[in-house]
Amino acid sequence: MKYDTIIIGGGIAGLQTAIQLSRCLRKVIVVDLPGGRSSVAKGYRNILGHPDRISGETLRQVGMKQAKQYGAVFKEEEVIKVVPCEAKGFQVWMKEEEAPLHAHTLVMATGIRDPFPDFPGVRECLGTSVFLCPDCDGYESVNTYTAIIGEGQHALKMTRDLSYFTPRMLVINHTGSNLTPAQVAELPILPIWMTASSR
Ligand SMILES: Cc1cc2nc3c(=O)[nH]c(=O)nc-3n(C[C@H](O)[C@H](O)[C@H](O)COP(=O)(O)OP(=O)(O)OC[C@H]3O[C@@H](n4cnc5c(N)ncnc54)[C@H](O)[C@@H]3O)c2cc1C
Repeated sequence: MKYDTIIIGGGIAGLQTAIQLSRCLRKVIVVDLPGGRSSVAKGYRNILGHPDRISGETLRQVGMKQAKQYGAVFKEEEVIKVVPCEAKGFQVWMKEEEAPLHAHTLVMATGIRDPFPDFPGVRECLGTSVFLCPDCDGYESVNTYTAIIGEGQHALKMTRDLSYFTPRMLVINHTGSNLTPAQVAELPILPIWMTASSR
């Protein structure tokens, strides 16, 4: 069977696309291997209609149900290769399938994976008390003691961004990468600053 569109990635972007295209009567398949941002985020607090927060996983389940209602098909698989066809369209190869899928058009909605530090408890707290985005979750730090863990320049930028919300920060420059005293002094607040070597 040839699809109109193959969507690679069934996170928020892929699901929204699947809902809209299916409602335009396109034959759509979503190929998704869970594990991206929407799978790990335990609570979004800035989504219209969800004042008590909603998890990425719940949004994914609801979105999938909504897309299926209009005929979208889902496959849990990893896409390993995409080949443009000579005439028109694409072949999409998956890890565990012998034959490729075919479609006229392709939507890449693969998101990004974050290099979270690998210490016990981090994954369980993602989106509840451990955050990565000052725009989505800066509000959670308003006037609250907040620890920032990051590589030198990134930690510096996060400190600058979060200083809008709180002056109470402990910054852990976990790679120990070099920052000049002048760079630290430019910050609008004076956080407590640690590097890997000062532990
Ligand atoms: C801890 C945390 C908290 C967050 N809090 C908020 C918040 O409060 N508010 C907010 O608006 N946003 C928040 N975000 C960001 C939000 O989760 C992302 O913006 C959103 O998930 C992006 O959607 P996406 O569809 O682009 O990517 P994703 O949700 O990552 O979806 C991409 C999908 O594609 C899959 N995929 C990738 N490669 C392949 C492949 N080769 N084959 C098959 N599948 C593949 C991935 O595994 C994944 O399932 C948060 C993120 C994190 C990590």
